[in-house]
Amino acid sequence: MSSGTHSTPDTPAGNVAADPADPATLVDRLRAGLPAEAVLTDPDITASYANDMASFCEAGTPAVVVLPRTVEQVQHVMRTATELRVPVVPQGARTGLSGAANASDGCVVLSLVKMDRIIEISPVDRIAVVEPGVVNATLSRAVGEHGLYYPPDPSSWETCTIGGNIGTASGGLCCVKYGVTAEYVLGLDVVLADGRLMSTGRRTAKGVAGYDLTRLFVGSEGSLGIVVRAILALKPQPPQQLVLAAEFGSAAEACDAVCRIMEGGHVPSLLELMDRTTIRAVNALAQMGLPETTEALLLAAFDTPDPAADLAAVGALCEAAGATQVVPAEDAAESELLLQARRLSLTALEGVKGTTMIDDVCVPRSRLGDMLEGVERIAEKYSLTIGVCAHAGDGNTHPTVCFDAADPDESRRARESFDEIMALGLELGGTITGEHGVGVLKKEWLARELGPVGVEMQRAVKAAFDPHHLLNPGKLF
Ligand SMILES: Cc1cc2nc3c(=O)[nH]c(=O)nc-3n(C[C@H](O)[C@H](O)[C@H](O)COP(=O)(O)OP(=O)(O)OC[C@H]3O[C@@H](n4cnc5c(N)ncnc54)[C@H](O)[C@@H]3O)c2cc1C
Repeated sequence: MSSGTHSTPDTPAGNVAADPADPATLVDRLRAGLPAEAVLTDPDITASYANDMASFCEAGTPAVVVLPRTVEQVQHVMRTATELRVPVVPQGARTGLSGAANASDGCVVLSLVKMDRIIEISPVDRIAVVEPGVVNATLSRAVGEHGLYYPPDPSSWETCTIGGNIGTASGGLCCVKYGVTAEYVLGLDVVLADGRLMSTGRRTAKGVAGYDLTRLFVGSEGSLGIVVRAILALKPQPPQQLVLAAEFGSAAEACDAVCRIMEGGHVPSLLELMDRTTIRAVNALAQMGLPETTEALLLAAFDTPDPAADLAAVGALCEAAGATQVVPAEDAAESELLLQARRLSLTALEGVKGTTMIDDVCVPRSRLGDMLEGVERIAEKYSLTIGVCAHAGDGNTHPTVCFDAADPDESRRARESFDEIMALGLELGGTITGEHGVGVLKKEWLARELGPVGVEMQRAVKAAFDPHHLLNPGKLF
């Protein structure tokens, strides 16, 4: 299936393809400014760059994949693409869950993974300057050696890239205390559609010069320009966090505990939820020995000077909400094991039926209980297994529809339930996506969330940066 439509300025509705450039001309022109090994044309290899990790999202066939190593090479790619009016799909590690990095027919896939240098780490300015292909965990470890901390930690952190994190405005486990990627991007170098290089933002602690174009690029899903360098804010490394696990007889009680913890003014460094389906899936995948009879497991952590005292206070709140058991981890190793279990959740749920559709609805924390109850109702209505793991402290849920992709009826029910979960999220005052982005998967839903005026203004912004609609066509709207 193809998502390969792209629009010209004359076709603002966005769905009429321009004449495709002759592939041989395109490849010759690209090779003129790139080393031979940076231009891949073998169809078996280029096909392997067609999609990210989102199942069931349409993806086209790339004409060519390029792997530049320098800013100048990226500029050459964009100049060529604009001259020949060929669409360009930027890619990081392709761990995205919404089809936002999926190829369109005849496109240039622009993979940034070879631009993976950490250019600078400054303990005084508390910043890191990096290329987009740096892997999140690599950066975290590198800044850790300087006593510094880069908080955004998607569960995919061992593979996903900073460029992809910026593209999707990704979050993670510790964002309940430290905030998401947007809070850490101070400045960017961006190659625009026509190949010009633009710098946004700052490397200073403060700065309000002009519109905040840096923030505009965070979450823009490769639709406005190519990020080739980022200035990221760092924090001093906090003390090692300690984790507590609380078991509940119902998801409602676990959500009540979340509300009590937040209402009580506590600031956990992590507050995560796994339901029974998720717990079982993780045990099946990794034999973690998590308690399978419990309906919901809440993980809370503190990285304060006295985490044991904070955990005791939060444990008491969990018990007041009905926890059947509260087990604080004894040391850092036990804490890390619990986090590993949570990080494995999405991967583990894939094992339930072979395929998953992962929702990413974020609701106000006060409505978390209603969200989980609604998901249970939807699972029953469609006779499907829907496992839920959640960044509970953020109200960010991942109801994960498990289904057999070879069964057309089950696949149809999976898509309908997936949509109904987003409708429920909007009804509860939430958003269709807390961190995974819109991509191809939630395009129709973005329009419902933003409304016609909102969509019109977003399209106007897109047109200002990308007048020929060549950057990541078919995504967002
Ligand atoms: C097991 C698993 C767990 C996950 N857990 C989380 C989680 O906890 N939190 C979370 O937020 N996400 C999570 N994700 C989703 C995913 O890992 C994130 O969205 C991540 O930020 C994507 O990074 P990437 O390098 O793979 O980017 P890609 O998937 O390759 O690209 C993502 C988007 O960014 C754009 N892009 C990439 N590089 C650039 C660039 N240099 N310039 C411009 N645009 C660019 C792409 O066009 C695309 O639109 C998870 C995924 C998996 C598979």
